[in-house]
Amino acid sequence: MTITGTYIKYYKVCFRKLWLFHHKIEMEHNSELVAEGSFIGEKSYPQRAERYREMLIDGSKIDFYDPYNKVVHEIKKSDKLEHSHVAQVQFYLYLLWKNGVKGATGLIEYPKLRQTQTVTLAEEDISQVENWVSEIERIVESEQCPGRIAKSRCRSCSYFEFCYAEEE
Ligand code: SF4
Repeated sequence: MTITGTYIKYYKVCFRKLWLFHHKIEMEHNSELVAEGSFIGEKSYPQRAERYREMLIDGSKIDFYDPYNKVVHEIKKSDKLEHSHVAQVQFYLYLLWKNGVKGATGLIEYPKLRQTQTVTLAEEDISQVENWVSEIERIVESEQCPGRIAKSRCRSCSYFEFCYAEEE
């Protein structure tokens, strides 16, 4: 099984979301990935295509990698800093580390907030990332779809209608 950055991000948000995504149950019309992709593709970042490289590593796609400074750039349309974004970038740093690129760092950019978040991968983070991967495999291989999380945390989720249609 190929675990990608999206798996890590969803794992940190909601086990049910992770499971639905893995089982290819997608709400296409409201896909967060499509929305994020088109946002990133906006004209506000034309210079990135020239300066940074898209990198495919162990099945994960890093959109913007600066190979000279060893920096993973991740742009988020979110209007708040989220732990899941940090975990996703730490996973990319882990993949780089596993493939011989030591000392890479990450920079998450939040254009709406005009803020950035630096991400590092300390030695103790490596076993933590490996635990996430094992836990993700256990969750998605289960035949049982995990339960819902608190509704108050679901409003922006693309699966909201799928999970709560009968209650609305
Ligand atoms: S709507 Fe809520 S419970 Fe359902 S997948 Fe999304 S975050 Fe999880």
